[in-house]
Amino acid sequence: MARPLRAAAELHAARRPGTAWLCLARRGNPALAARKVTSVSRQAWARRHGIVDAEGKPLKIHRSRIRTTHHAMRDKRTWTGSARANIDPNHTPAVEGGHYLSATTPAQRKAVEAIVEDAQHDLLRRAHPPTVLTDEDAAALAQDYPDVMATMELDDAALAELIGGQRDVFTAACGDQLSGLHGPKGKPCPARPWVCLLCPLAVFAPRHAANLLRLKAFFSRQWQQMPAAHFMAVFGPYATRIQQVLDRFDPVLLAEAAAHVRDKDDELPLRPEELTE
Ligand code: SF4
Repeated sequence: MARPLRAAAELHAARRPGTAWLCLARRGNPALAARKVTSVSRQAWARRHGIVDAEGKPLKIHRSRIRTTHHAMRDKRTWTGSARANIDPNHTPAVEGGHYLSATTPAQRKAVEAIVEDAQHDLLRRAHPPTVLTDEDAAALAQDYPDVMATMELDDAALAELIGGQRDVFTAACGDQLSGLHGPKGKPCPARPWVCLLCPLAVFAPRHAANLLRLKAFFSRQWQQMPAAHFMAVFGPYATRIQQVLDRFDPVLLAEAAAHVRDKDDELPLRPEELTE
């Protein structure tokens, strides 16, 4: 079925450039046609399928936005994301913003402002110094990090779990996995293990030293196989932070932990596309 359709598509595309889709010329008639997509046909399509905007009117379809979304989704398909700052390398970010992010309705403006606020919060979160306990006890946490304690709003039971290891994830102890900081609120945090390094809910204790060293070895393997600029865009801030955390631990403890690190992918909870071997 696909081959005759492809042949017909090529024929129609040669005759009428600018057409995208094949359809039946008339209902009940097997002849194919390729109609030109115009603003009128787009509006008719939206009406036919009952697609409405936030105000209940037929949705005005912006093809440039669909294209932008498609590019962004394609770039995010690989786990390392896209190193590109803009969609068309011939545009400046300002021109792209003007083309693709202009908010024409109050709902769109609100959505764009929410994205900007999220990005600014993210920058602030990353600027926080890491919470590192050299002594695994609650008193040290409360005394050294009163602001962290206030932010996490931990009661005594939660604090005991945090210190005791019941709230451990791979990289650290997590103040609240359901906080929704990196995913939907109420669902376990979906962030990759290195994201904990820059998360204000992470508390690093001596028991995490071995996993931190495994993560550091993973960064080294990635460094060897990724272009430097790409590595810096994806892992740069995490690689800097992991060294800051490790520097706070006793060198003797680190030497003991290093003896358990094999420098292999199977030591970390990695996805297939993240493997380095
Ligand atoms: S990224 Fe933050 S919220 Fe997510 S598991 Fe790590 S410490 Fe917890």
